[in-house]
Amino acid sequence: MKKNKKKSAIYAITAALTLSACFVLFQLNRHDDLANTRQEESLIEKPIKKYGYDIDFYKIEERTIEKNQFLSEILTNAGVNYSDIHNLAENSKEVFDVRNLRAGKKYAIVRDSCLSPEALVYVPSVYKYVKYNLKNRLNAEIVEKPIATCIESGSGTLNSSLWNTMIDNNMPPALISKMEDALAWSIDFYHTQVDDEYRLIYEREYIDGEAVGVGKLLGAYYKNYANEYYAVYYDHEHYSGYYDLEGRPTKKPFLKAPVKFSRISSKFSLSRFHPVLKRRKAHFGTDYAAAYGTPIFSVANGVVTRVSYTKANGRFVKIKHDKTYQTQYLHMSRFAEGIKVGMHVKQGQTIGYIGSSGLATGPHVCFRFWKNGKQVNHLKENFPPAEPMPEDELDAFFTYRDKMINLLDLVCNTPVSIMTDSESETSEP
Ligand SMILES: [Zn+2]
Repeated sequence: MKKNKKKSAIYAITAALTLSACFVLFQLNRHDDLANTRQEESLIEKPIKKYGYDIDFYKIEERTIEKNQFLSEILTNAGVNYSDIHNLAENSKEVFDVRNLRAGKKYAIVRDSCLSPEALVYVPSVYKYVKYNLKNRLNAEIVEKPIATCIESGSGTLNSSLWNTMIDNNMPPALISKMEDALAWSIDFYHTQVDDEYRLIYEREYIDGEAVGVGKLLGAYYKNYANEYYAVYYDHEHYSGYYDLEGRPTKKPFLKAPVKFSRISSKFSLSRFHPVLKRRKAHFGTDYAAAYGTPIFSVANGVVTRVSYTKANGRFVKIKHDKTYQTQYLHMSRFAEGIKVGMHVKQGQTIGYIGSSGLATGPHVCFRFWKNGKQVNHLKENFPPAEPMPEDELDAFFTYRDKMINLLDLVCNTPVSIMTDSESETSEP
């Protein structure tokens, strides 16, 4: 199934929130007409199909592959002759080799109305199945199952850690990290407190009526002793992601460099001549040269994860900004006073001073940018813009935002389900 990324399902949602004390019908859409079309469509009666076969005409026997059970045995039992089995195995190698069938996985024998074997269906995962045609073609095809995206909501009040509370509230674990992602720049999730509150509206993906994953987090609300915070997911050509109520990205941009009045003395490179080692070596950082003792600051808010010394790096500090990004600052002459592991630092806060400790020829900071555990060139990364979204988009955003706030305000204490949205991908023009 192709996902329409740009204008995805989220804008064409008829969301009916069933709340513990109230029942409210909501339109959370940019294109109200789509919802109506869909209601009309759903009145047409469709035949019930399984694996693409109309169950009124086909007999479908579902089983599980047993230990040491091979295709030949399954198909012989089903009444397929040996030469057909051999041809099927040959013809399907490229698509899904029959040697990849695994014990414990589900399969089905599909028989036509005369009970002769029509197909073998193998189900390697919830997302797809492999159909081995047992008639004529004797080949295989992989069929991706349609994913229905439903909009759901959930909320809770912390009575222990955030994680435990959300698990107690039956929130899917994947959602926890999405909420942190949406709000990590405004909320310190290391220090959540009892009585903090959260409310979320999110996509849940279903296949055959079974929850298989979490889609986008569409709206998040968090309240702690200090303040209330909102994040609204919004697709926009400049930046698709979470915005605050004023239309600014909730993630703050990183400062371009960790020192003022510096110059880049060596760029990020997969192969450069190392001035001390005298050989070519990848340089996974950007060097900023500055005078000894110049303050080095954190390029964004975060938590210090390392304050250390190694022969190559000299004195260095590493900071975790969110679940994706970490930064590291090498060759310091000394650390800033009080810098220690576990400490929170703010964007622009001094963490150490320029030096040449470790393998360095002159005073500089080697600035390293980690993304999902790998070092990347931060000057080439696509970070959220510092500016709010353009004026001409704001009206549309505010309208959408207000609907989202309304929905979030209505989320009560128990997880509730909202109407499905399985057809919307194809409904977009
Ligand atoms: Zn360097």
